Amino acid sequence: MANAASIGLKVRDKVVVITGGARGIGLATATALHNLGAKVAIGDVDEVRVKESGAALGLDVYGKLDVTDAHSFSEFLDEVERQLGPIDVLVNNAGIMPVGRIVDEPDAVTRRILDINVYGVILGSKLAAQRMVPRKSGHVINVASLAGELYIVGLATYCASKHAVLAFTDAARLEYHSSGVKFSAVLPTFVNTELVAGTPGMKGFRNAEPAEIADAIVGLIVRPKPRVRITKAAGAMVVSQKFWPRRLAEGLNRLLGGEHVFTDDVDVEKRRAYEARARGED
Ligand code: NAD
Repeated sequence: MANAASIGLKVRDKVVVITGGARGIGLATATALHNLGAKVAIGDVDEVRVKESGAALGLDVYGKLDVTDAHSFSEFLDEVERQLGPIDVLVNNAGIMPVGRIVDEPDAVTRRILDINVYGVILGSKLAAQRMVPRKSGHVINVASLAGELYIVGLATYCASKHAVLAFTDAARLEYHSSGVKFSAVLPTFVNTELVAGTPGMKGFRNAEPAEIADAIVGLIVRPKPRVRITKAAGAMVVSQKFWPRRLAEGLNRLLGGEHVFTDDVDVEKRRAYEARARGED
């Protein structure tokens, strides 16, 4: 286990870009890395909030970045390189999680989930790799989810998007394994951010805090590896389920109430503001 001093040495002065950095996991990661002396830039489609967060943290670069827009994304990366130097790490963190049954999901929401969660990650990975591969150095860290290894009622499109992020990240990692450019995936359990507002969480497992995901991302920068699952307990459960007969795993999930967590058990009032933001209706 690396100690605080050696973590600091490996992270200090690294140029790190974080998408979706205005709040939640992205902001917690920016805070952890900034405190360790990294040169951090945060971009977010929520321009007001990202400016507030970037200024409060004392970052040099922060501003509007829409991960679904190639022009916006590359302009932001150009600006970071002009001000801070070559990008060492891109954390593709921006993502949304509207909940509900498939039949109730408007087409526009389906496309929006895929656009932000999948296309945004692929676009960011390509733009970063185009800069990093010629330099033979860099690290792309994609924030997926344990939902990328699970199948969850009420989150079908979200699960599909995170499964896609994992497959893409693994394929890219193999494609560039001897190039000096690394790819990693982060698989958090449910985390206490606005994204889970009004949802009861996984029975028997606590939600993680954003700072725990930030620590895991710092850990990946210090010692790159293909994927990290947080929390350890939820990660172990997901991995072990892969070896169970399907009927047993699905039956246990039903017994634990898994079919209702993101449908009937959602507190619609508490979730209203997040759903409006995630669906682009606010
Ligand atoms: P959050 O809603 O708190 O923050 C996400 C940020 O992404 C927001 O500030 C939002 O404005 C931004 N964003 C949305 N669309 C964007 C776009 N087109 N371009 C740029 N920025 C955009 O959510 P969070 O919980 O911090 O989630 C961060 C990531 O972690 C997501 O990819 C999410 O899927 C993943 N994740 C979250 C949880 C959880 O339970 N919170 C669990 C597993 C994985």
